[in-house]
This record gives sequence, structure tokens and C-alpha cells, in this order.
Amino acid sequence: MLFEVRQQPVTANELDDNVTAIEEQTDSGAIVTKMPTCGDEMCHCMIDNEKHGPYRYHVYCDDRGKVTVDYLGKA
Ligand SMILES: [Zn+2]
Repeated sequence: MLFEVRQQPVTANELDDNVTAIEEQTDSGAIVTKMPTCGDEMCHCMIDNEKHGPYRYHVYCDDRGKVTVDYLGKA
């Protein structure tokens, strides 16, 4: 088989550490809330650990089996 399209939904342990809540499971993944850092060392999110957000994302497997993250806006 040349490549295998994955059929399972994205699971919680594939989500990154910034996920604070899983709001809803969908057929192929989940709607999650994240409080991300922006990576700027001078930003309050890195200095004081006051992270950005919360923002909502849909994390899912697309039809080629790739884990995809869609930004849904501020939570
Ligand atoms: Zn920041």
C-alpha cells in the first residue's frame, strides 16, 4: 500500500500542551480551547506566563489523513 488514509479521529493526546479544554468531539476530531504563547520572549505570555486567548480551534483529520487545525476565533 503506498499510503494509508487514516480513519480514526484526532485524539486528545495528539493535541498540544496549550489546549485547556475539549469543548466538543466531532466525527474527525474535536473543538478545543487553547491559551497559546506567541513565542516572543519579550511578550507577557513568555515573561509572566499570561498566555493569549482563550481561542477556539477545530482539530481534525482532513480527507488525506493529515491532522489539521482551523482557527475559529476568540472563545
Ligand atoms: Zn505573547
